Amino acid sequence: MNTENSERLYKTAVSLMPGGVNSPVRACGSVGRTPLFIKRAQGDRVIDEDGNSLIDYVCSWGPGILGHAHPYVVEKVQEAAADGLTYGAPTKKEVILADLIRQCMPSMERLRLVNSGTEAVMSAIRAARGYTGRDKIIKCKGCYHGHSDGLLVKAGSAALTGGVPDSAGVPASYTAHTLIASYNDVSTIEKLFQKFGDEIACLVIEPVAANMGVVLPQEGFLHFLREITVKYGTVLIFDEVITGFRLGLGGAQAYYDVVPDLTTLGKIVGGGMPLAVYGGKKEIMECVAPLGSVYQAGTLSGNPIATTAGIATLSVLMERPEIYRELEDKTAILAEAYEKTGKVQVNRIGSLLGAFFTDRPVTDYESAVSSDTARYAAYYGHMLENGIYVAPSQFEAMFVSAAHTWEDIEKTAKVIGNLAD
Ligand SMILES: *Cc1c(COP(=O)(O)O)cnc(C)c1O
Repeated sequence: MNTENSERLYKTAVSLMPGGVNSPVRACGSVGRTPLFIKRAQGDRVIDEDGNSLIDYVCSWGPGILGHAHPYVVEKVQEAAADGLTYGAPTKKEVILADLIRQCMPSMERLRLVNSGTEAVMSAIRAARGYTGRDKIIKCKGCYHGHSDGLLVKAGSAALTGGVPDSAGVPASYTAHTLIASYNDVSTIEKLFQKFGDEIACLVIEPVAANMGVVLPQEGFLHFLREITVKYGTVLIFDEVITGFRLGLGGAQAYYDVVPDLTTLGKIVGGGMPLAVYGGKKEIMECVAPLGSVYQAGTLSGNPIATTAGIATLSVLMERPEIYRELEDKTAILAEAYEKTGKVQVNRIGSLLGAFFTDRPVTDYESAVSSDTARYAAYYGHMLENGIYVAPSQFEAMFVSAAHTWEDIEKTAKVIGNLAD
């Protein structure tokens, strides 16, 4: 595989940006490689600066549910661009998108459009604190909720392989109010509530954890969270930045039939543009400015190009809900191929897949990090050399899109089957 142009660009990039990248996992450090520079993408392929065409299972870390450069989405975005890129004023498109989202997720009685998942979760937590008048929050080990200060404690994603699970530059006082629980562990959460019950503003969780690889909630776990948060008057926040529109139109909350107080969305909802959402119960969201005293704002929030991409993407998904069935069938073929190798533990839900190089069933942070990242690195190299682009980290999900052809899925299954020790 020729990577000359990528390597040349990488050399220049490292002289300009920390590690040559604008988000750490892209540096491919945990698989001991240098990154490929992507020139363009089409359907289920990314094409790099050396002309290598690779079957893509990163899908921009989740947004790409329709595949790259979906013709309808691109057409709408091009039309919108001609009408101006940003106005900083209300638009009809914001109303349309907000309405589509609420149709899919009725628990989002009121919602706000923001620019990134980080911003959405940070703002949801602020609203929960403003509403309850409490300071403490609970998050689970291995769940990632963006890089805001108070949440960089036992975060997943790149924070797991980057060796900085607790970031430098975050004053201890910023995280003093962040209580850490274990995902799928009822007893640690009960203990935190017994000790701090009436001080806990919110419990924020990925209903399906997808930033320590994919870890599914055990039977009854999400219902337990709903019950205990009601009991203590704590706001339950589902961070559905990955699961929203991925597990179905109604996200994890519909899939598991558990209604949170607040929800955060990102990735798919922006159709590939920088857009995220937080929202939920009317009485909580009405604490947000200008109605209430919780401040939150954004120059580019509700941007007309981003809302256009979001509307176009959601419209396709809402018109063709059978996409989800097809995504699931394709992903099941890959899951079976991984299982057949006998080398990995496979967790799958819908079109979210995690294959862990460990012998233990993966149900929480500890079992996830028992994975052998050196074996993952070897697997990564095997996939890449066979034309398949997977996440350069054991702790990221594998994403399947509607653009993955059956032929490419079969090809991928074959390459997985040839995985050497
Ligand atoms: C990606 C992600 C975020 C952060 O979103 P950004 O747009 O990268 O800031 C937050 N929560 C979850 C669950 C995510 O997967």
